[in-house]
Amino acid sequence: MSELYQKLEDIVSKNYISNSEYIRHAYSRNVDPLLQCVPDIVIRPKDAQEISEILKIANEENIPVFVRGGGDCEFGGSKPIGDGGIVLDMKRMNRIIHFNQENLIATVEAGISWGRLNEYLSMYGLYTGCMGPGSGMTASIGGGISHHSVGGGGCAKYGACTNQLVSLEVVLPTGEIIETGSQANKFSPLPFNRFGNGPDLAGLFCGDNGILGVKTKASLKVFPKPPYANYKTFVLNRKSAQVSSEILYEIRHKGIDVYDAMYIMDLVVTVGCQQGLFPMWESNLKRKRGIFFYTIEANSEVELEEKTKQLDNIILSKNKTEELGSELSDGNIARWHYEEQGHWQMYHNLWGMFPALEPLTAECFTPINTYPHILADLDQWDIEHNDDIQKITEITGQRPITGSGPILLIDGCNVELTCGFTSYSAYFDGKHHSIIDEINLKLWKSILERVTKHGVQWYMMGDMMSRMMVDFGAYQEKFYELMKNIKKTLDPNSILSRGKYNFE
Ligand SMILES: Cc1cc2nc3c(=O)[nH]c(=O)nc-3n(C[C@H](O)[C@H](O)[C@H](O)COP(=O)(O)OP(=O)(O)OC[C@H]3O[C@@H](n4cnc5c(N)ncnc54)[C@H](O)[C@@H]3O)c2cc1C
Repeated sequence: MSELYQKLEDIVSKNYISNSEYIRHAYSRNVDPLLQCVPDIVIRPKDAQEISEILKIANEENIPVFVRGGGDCEFGGSKPIGDGGIVLDMKRMNRIIHFNQENLIATVEAGISWGRLNEYLSMYGLYTGCMGPGSGMTASIGGGISHHSVGGGGCAKYGACTNQLVSLEVVLPTGEIIETGSQANKFSPLPFNRFGNGPDLAGLFCGDNGILGVKTKASLKVFPKPPYANYKTFVLNRKSAQVSSEILYEIRHKGIDVYDAMYIMDLVVTVGCQQGLFPMWESNLKRKRGIFFYTIEANSEVELEEKTKQLDNIILSKNKTEELGSELSDGNIARWHYEEQGHWQMYHNLWGMFPALEPLTAECFTPINTYPHILADLDQWDIEHNDDIQKITEITGQRPITGSGPILLIDGCNVELTCGFTSYSAYFDGKHHSIIDEINLKLWKSILERVTKHGVQWYMMGDMMSRMMVDFGAYQEKFYELMKNIKKTLDPNSILSRGKYNFE
């Protein structure tokens, strides 16, 4: 056993550290089929103090540390970049520390999942508002804040999960432990507000993709779940991308308070129906066109009716738009999405659309009026890259799919756009087809560059996108320089997530 391993074991005890080959490999990837790097050690700390000690040793020994919550990053963000280093698994830190029912603030350990926290809150008729990401049954609060996640329901009303943040406890890369917001005043007994006592230091760690500190505690505003809700699903006409963006704009311009509004493109509807993924649409939809659905919440029946009327007026005024019936069996996916926590199942289902097919995604924020152009450009990209795509098709017998997953309204006049290229892993039939890896990587980079040049904003960046932004020359020079200087100040030995953003 190495001296380093012994020192770390002395901190967490032998049950919570491993360097066995199968554990190291289990922590060597996230959800994409391409990026894999094997750590030397996996460690599961129980609190901020242990993390502080681990980071101090990592600095002494110059060993990089990669923080992992649920491990659901789509860009390889919570595994090493290059083999080696320590993976710090946060999932042991999953307690609800304090629930301030009077002030509607929950303080939790950062490794808790969105699902677990919301299960607890539901006993009080409360929820987190933005339900985190679509992976919220496994993804952690710490991972969500590190990504600015949106998508698991409620993001049209509440925005990204960082909007709810009140205070953070963070272990800095050199081991010091800080608290932000109201807790900067050491006389404050409980977190109550994010801004004040100086600049918004919590903001520094929101969307940092794990490079500036380890979030150990988070205090979030929580909200009463309104007693009334309505949800409807519509089939759009042939120009569904354009029509859905017009609908979303009207919703925002008329100030209608929707909880969720989502567009699912025709290709996903068609392929999903063929694969048996949307049984409620197989017979109900004569033509497999783009789908739009919304959810609204209200405190009274009158309010609900009024909002429903306003929304239906907007949507049904579009040529050839049809409303589906109110039950799930009629095709009303919005009912499942809201009432049955479908928002945490939808993406898992979509990703399993074809066994062995996995997305090489491009998940970003963009203004509503830009996504129809981006989707059209992706069709063009697909045509331009047909030769490479065909090479994969010849091996697998099935053509990889270019397109977009659900497009969601988020705060402001913006959407979360999940698009990309869904392909086969090199091991799809048990043999290793290295050519598939090569083509996948080439095509993934190419599609990311194409989407970046539409001026989108990446929020989950991980290994891949953090470095691609630099490689594509997309960063404003002064922004990048400042980010690099902040990193250097907080993490002089580049211990946390070494390799991201190509700082070294
Ligand atoms: C099926 C599926 C659906 C998804 N849907 C969405 C979606 O709707 N919206 C969306 O935004 N994303 C989505 N994602 C991507 C991803 O799951 C989310 O971004 C999620 O918030 C990541 O959380 P995690 O706990 O899994 O983080 P991880 O993947 O473990 O980590 C993510 C990043 O945060 C850092 N990190 C994690 N915990 C901490 C911590 N405590 N302190 C400091 N840094 C930390 C890691 O180093 C890494 O850089 C989806 C992924 C899958 C597989």
